[in-house]
Amino acid sequence: MEKQVEPYHPEYAANRVQSALERAEEELRQALMRWFAEFLEDLTDVEKMTKDEPLPGFILARLNDQVWWRMWSERLAEILTSVLLNALQAGAQTAGRQLQVKLSWDYIQPVALAWARENASKLVTGILPDVQTGIAQIVTGGLSEGKTMYQIRDEIADLRNDAEQTIFPEWRATRIARTEVIRAHAQGAKLGYQESGVVRGMRWLDGQTGACPKCRELHNKTVRLGEPFYLDPKFGDGLPPRHPHCRCAVAPVTLEQVKYLPADHPLRDNRRNSIEEVTDIQTYTEIGGVRVTGERLRHAQFGHPEVKGFIENIEQALLSPTFFKDRGELRDYYLDLRRKSPSGRNFYLKVVVKMDENPFLLTSYLTTQK
Ligand SMILES: [Zn+2]
Repeated sequence: MEKQVEPYHPEYAANRVQSALERAEEELRQALMRWFAEFLEDLTDVEKMTKDEPLPGFILARLNDQVWWRMWSERLAEILTSVLLNALQAGAQTAGRQLQVKLSWDYIQPVALAWARENASKLVTGILPDVQTGIAQIVTGGLSEGKTMYQIRDEIADLRNDAEQTIFPEWRATRIARTEVIRAHAQGAKLGYQESGVVRGMRWLDGQTGACPKCRELHNKTVRLGEPFYLDPKFGDGLPPRHPHCRCAVAPVTLEQVKYLPADHPLRDNRRNSIEEVTDIQTYTEIGGVRVTGERLRHAQFGHPEVKGFIENIEQALLSPTFFKDRGELRDYYLDLRRKSPSGRNFYLKVVVKMDENPFLLTSYLTTQK
């Protein structure tokens, strides 16, 4: 039942990304099969092969060569990263179209790239050991059956043309392509919602004919932005796909829509327990007694896209500043960022707090002035 391929949810076509995703799937599927064929060619040195070359120890040496394996795993990671990044970008486009706003890919790109790289390396970790084991089994099996290393080499080289081979079969490449493109698209959409600042939650869209029961169960389920739709230790990250070959979609629940929900609806609660959960301009959290709103955080982050970990720095500035200065109703918290300006002066993160009954963060920015 989970093996069945779901048709694309109509939401993908409505947002004009379906054909781009179909192309990305096909591109990834072919690139994975090409990677495997080139890997086999390199392993058996088949391009330069004459009757009695390479030497019998050649394959065994390569199988034990960590540098060689790293090269092939890095190549695989690059293939995956580039296709995933395309799908993430399509997801951000989807978010922009659903919200009818123009989202800046420049702000989303660094986070998207980090996600693509991390996910690609997870996928490599899932693929490579199977390939390693499969090849090692052919070698040891062949040797125990009394085959020569030349016969074994030919057997490995022939895997390239063997549609039935099970070491890295085509169906697996297809499944990875389908599943991972949808996953990256959903992640890109989520990053787009976050970037917009006006999305409070997400709604699961299944509704298409041919969705499996697990997906149908999630249909119309609404969660806060950043919360998972489901928890499954075996598969997925809480967003589509729910299972391999799943093509469900998500839609944003905007702040505008939340206004019409009943007052006690969980999505109407603006308060968050940590700064990481502050996902839209109306959410807020308190750090060391200071209220920090999503709106103020956005201003800070957009002002300094070059500063990594801006959010963590703000938290640290409020909780353990390098020093602070009081000026009337305002208190300036300074955090030494341990970076030098081009003129050799220290960079500080300065967080300005209005100190009334309920202190709140007014603004924050980088400065070299104490
Ligand atoms: Zn599904």
